[in-house]
Amino acid sequence: MRAELLVVGAGPAGVSAALWARALELDVLLLDGAPAPGGQLHAVNFHPQDVPGFEQGDGPALAAAYARQLAAASVPLRTDCLAIGIRSAGGHTAVELAGGEWIEAAAVLVASGVRRRRLDVPGEREFDGRGVSYSANRDRDSLAGRRVAVVGGGDAAFENALLLSRAGSDVTLLVRGAVRARHEFRARVAADERIRVIERARVTSIEGDDRVRVLRVTGGQGSSTHPAETELAVDGVVIKVGVVPNSEWCRSSIICDEEGFLRVDERLATSLRHVWAAGDVTRPHPPSIPVAIGQGAQAVAMIRAVLRAG
Ligand SMILES: Cc1cc2nc3c(=O)[nH]c(=O)nc-3n(C[C@H](O)[C@H](O)[C@H](O)COP(=O)(O)OP(=O)(O)OC[C@H]3O[C@@H](n4cnc5c(N)ncnc54)[C@H](O)[C@@H]3O)c2cc1C
Repeated sequence: MRAELLVVGAGPAGVSAALWARALELDVLLLDGAPAPGGQLHAVNFHPQDVPGFEQGDGPALAAAYARQLAAASVPLRTDCLAIGIRSAGGHTAVELAGGEWIEAAAVLVASGVRRRRLDVPGEREFDGRGVSYSANRDRDSLAGRRVAVVGGGDAAFENALLLSRAGSDVTLLVRGAVRARHEFRARVAADERIRVIERARVTSIEGDDRVRVLRVTGGQGSSTHPAETELAVDGVVIKVGVVPNSEWCRSSIICDEEGFLRVDERLATSLRHVWAAGDVTRPHPPSIPVAIGQGAQAVAMIRAVLRAG
């Protein structure tokens, strides 16, 4: 199979790029390893207030609007279609799919985003689904009205703490390093009597019987006067400790930073000829829907200029 522009990843960056490409009359193909477009939007359980024109609705509602818009613009979209490799040689670029198929393209845009990071402590995998959760929204029914620890210091952790508090849970927010959540979330957490924040706290293990009962935690506020390790009795723990880039599939061919985020120049070009990147996989500041949308559009403008010049 061949496309003029192949976009890998149908989150906000990839969808924006594909729509722009269509408008600029590039022969574009959009693919995603998930069953539907939207990427991380499927995990946004509130109204993202920084998206102009999107006056109400949550992330999945915005993702559904993307699917409708792609269909209306007749953008070719292949879902459940995972990229596992990329090569560029002799003016030809090709992406390998799980299953062995190769798609050739004059240009490739990597928009494969990020996924959640694990704590990687004893008990995390053992109690997954039995008190260990990665989404307070998804597991709200089993966590409502209970003692729950939320681990993390970013937007997702603070949002999950607020969600659990609304569900009647007593929440301990364990923040390992600096609080990174946006001001709005910090203010709401500070005003919420059901949420206790412990900073400089590191979870070392998750323990229990048929489900999670205890977290072992080192540090914590005033840690110099506290024992090195304390036990926190909980009924559940929600882990929200950041992200890792979905770049394993192309890391051996494209220069990345030490954490695997793709390095791009000011035109969003990667180190691999005729391969560009946009959105969270490039570690933008801030990683967000509007920035991903903007980068998707910018990358396509750059790509078109190069393709049409050639
Ligand atoms: C809980 C939460 C709340 C958030 N709240 C906000 C907010 O209020 N406002 C805001 O602006 N931003 C918010 N964000 C961040 C925002 O969702 C992201 O910045 C944005 O989705 C990034 O878009 P993207 O297209 O770069 O990547 P992603 O959304 O990560 O999409 C990447 C896509 O690539 C696909 N993919 C990955 N690897 C492959 C592969 N090998 N082959 C094929 N497809 C692949 C994935 O399936 C996915 O669909 C939030 C994020 C989360 C998790």
